Amino acid sequence: MEKTVVLYPGVGVGHLVPMVEVAKLFLKHGLAVTVVLIDPQVESTDFSAAVARARASNPSVAFHVLPPPPADSNSNSAPTHPVIQIFRLLKSMNAPLLDFLRSLPSVDALVLDMFCVDAQDVAAELKLPVYYFYASAAADLALFFNLPSKLAGSKVKELGDSIITFPGVPPLKASDLPEVTHNDEVLKAISGMFDRMPDANGILINSFESLETRAVRALKDGLCVPGRATPPVYCIGPLVSGGGDKEHECLRWLDAQPDQSVVFLSFGSMGTFSGKQLEEIATGLEKSGERFLWVVRSPRNPDYKYGDSLPEPDLDALMPEGFLERTKDRGLVIKSWAPQVEVLRHRATGAFMTHCGWNSTLEGITAGLPLLCWPLYAEQKVNKVHIVEGMKLGVEMRGYNEEVVKAEEVEEKVRWVMASEGGKALRERVAAAKDAAAEALKEGGSSDLAFVQFLNDLDTSIAPTVQH
Ligand code: UDP
Repeated sequence: MEKTVVLYPGVGVGHLVPMVEVAKLFLKHGLAVTVVLIDPQVESTDFSAAVARARASNPSVAFHVLPPPPADSNSNSAPTHPVIQIFRLLKSMNAPLLDFLRSLPSVDALVLDMFCVDAQDVAAELKLPVYYFYASAAADLALFFNLPSKLAGSKVKELGDSIITFPGVPPLKASDLPEVTHNDEVLKAISGMFDRMPDANGILINSFESLETRAVRALKDGLCVPGRATPPVYCIGPLVSGGGDKEHECLRWLDAQPDQSVVFLSFGSMGTFSGKQLEEIATGLEKSGERFLWVVRSPRNPDYKYGDSLPEPDLDALMPEGFLERTKDRGLVIKSWAPQVEVLRHRATGAFMTHCGWNSTLEGITAGLPLLCWPLYAEQKVNKVHIVEGMKLGVEMRGYNEEVVKAEEVEEKVRWVMASEGGKALRERVAAAKDAAAEALKEGGSSDLAFVQFLNDLDTSIAPTVQH
């Protein structure tokens, strides 16, 4: 009988999108797979839209939406940090998840997103092997496994710009650690998550070995999890989705532009800027004289909460006066959302200004585009260090840690990447990384072999199939 695997991506567009690609890999290798979702409406409007896109563009993948948790299961609903809310929400989904798994005729393994760590209890209850799909860089995993022991009780905020070193990771400033590490309660929850992950049977990573040789080596050599064995890690990426709207107006606009002439600016599923910052970007783009395609979202109000939807941006109000008219022959501003992968792979796109979310990073690299790194939230400042110092596939926007990135820097970096010798050398390095990614994915490549190895190990870890 074919094996059945259940994938549980938890929350977040950037976690769902690559997990659906993992589902397709399982299907390709002849396993049955179901992607289990929490009610998308409970998560956010953006997540609901991402679920709808994933379903529409992947008819071969089975999705199942769990019913809401029992009303009394989330009784500790005192206002708290959004990350703690996510952990609480996902913990409260254990009961519906268990019911669903019990309702299946058979299930052989559970693959979890890192935030779904409490679902390890569900796997234990059903005696199922449990794996993680880590949707960020191997270097992040190497770092976060080690973080609590490196901090040894120090407060991240107080460490300022002091340098911390981790096996397999370029030295980084404490100020580049995610802001969530400044909050004791959240740091404890995140440390608890990375403390439980090594109990899993293995960790699939959305990366490829030649992109992150040092980090993967450090993980495989057991240098990252202090005092304990590291489970097997399998770099099976880069898994990049391509399900965007192929008829979007911005693709027709790109059709009319010369090859590799357009800088694409896009800042993930949640990136927003203040009105002042939008003006600085606009001014920089205009002064650069280069072509650009820019995805703009409305600024957030001070009372914005995670999951709130943002209104469509009013471009006339947000852009400097006359900007849209003056740049209309060489620039296009898109409201809220673009089919990013399709844009990045268009022959007219020549560089990518990105917030360094890991999906965006892989999408840029596999399109062969130099990265202008402007980290905003989550682990993106750490990713910026990997990209700029480790992989050498991008340059940083210096002002990322200041109140605003100035128009002068936007102008300077856009010109540099499009028209300098340094920009050309960077483009050549990314072109080589793009080729290496394709090598890793093809039959017999490192990522293909890692997935086959994982399937073999999965076979061994499956005790007798759980039948209900
Ligand atoms: N994305 C997109 N269009 C947009 C913004 C984002 O298609 O206008 C997609 C992007 O291609 C990527 C995902 O949303 O697949 C964002 O994931 P990432 O890890 O880069 O960042 P996150 O949103 O998790 O911060």
